[in-house]
Amino acid sequence: MTAISWRATVLTLFPEMFPGPLGVSLAGKALATGLWTLEARDIRASATDRHRSVDDTPAGGGPGMVLRADVLAAAIDAVASPEDRPRLLMSPRGRPLTQATVAELAAGPGPLIVCGRFEGVDQRVIGARGLEEVSIGDYVLSGGEIAAMALIDCCVRLLPGVMGKSSSGADESFSEGLLEYPQYTRPQMFEGAPIPELLLSGDHARVAAWRRAEAEALTRARRPDLWAAHAGQNRPKNPTDG
Ligand code: SAH
Repeated sequence: MTAISWRATVLTLFPEMFPGPLGVSLAGKALATGLWTLEARDIRASATDRHRSVDDTPAGGGPGMVLRADVLAAAIDAVASPEDRPRLLMSPRGRPLTQATVAELAAGPGPLIVCGRFEGVDQRVIGARGLEEVSIGDYVLSGGEIAAMALIDCCVRLLPGVMGKSSSGADESFSEGLLEYPQYTRPQMFEGAPIPELLLSGDHARVAAWRRAEAEALTRARRPDLWAAHAGQNRPKNPTDG
């Protein structure tokens, strides 16, 4: 009967960074009420030598340090039954994180996430432990922790009971391959700019049509890549635009 809550296990050299921003607001409340659990494990606890070293110089030379395969493998192996959960490595070389991946991860038991540091991790542990590399964008962070937090935050807000209305995830950016329409709230007049009249009409069908058109126009203008994919998906449908 007891539901096992969604669980994020993070392997990091800086467990003190967690929960950090995940401990406040939506994610923090959900964490406090047990809608999800977070386990930040110190990779250094799996170091075996006298100096507790976790990294070494790159084979073949070059700057920086590389996380050792043996230490990281031991840290992964120390997690109870990690086989049935997605095992991710935050990495700028990885598959770009998308809302579709987030939704998939949120629907599962919750991932084990390895955070790199320095120049990255020894290539051999990626294969040996079946780590899937995931990137949060085409830029380089100094460590995987902030990337892991971004991924976890995206997942947690989709968990049942976390967001006020269960529908609020359904029509936001990316959920249909479109960016979200513009939002407005009181005051009705702000520095001479009114809320678009139609939004105050109470005509739900017209509001929905307007939002749809705005979302499409915005996506077309700002994200031709998303728009092309969206248009491709919807080609067989009615082409009228409202
Ligand atoms: N030398 C590496 C970068 C290492 S950055 C390279 O050029 O690919 C150190 C760590 O930060 C990485 O191991 C990874 O865990 C994390 N990281 C950096 N940028 C990231 C990104 N865009 N997405 C996810 N993780 C990232």
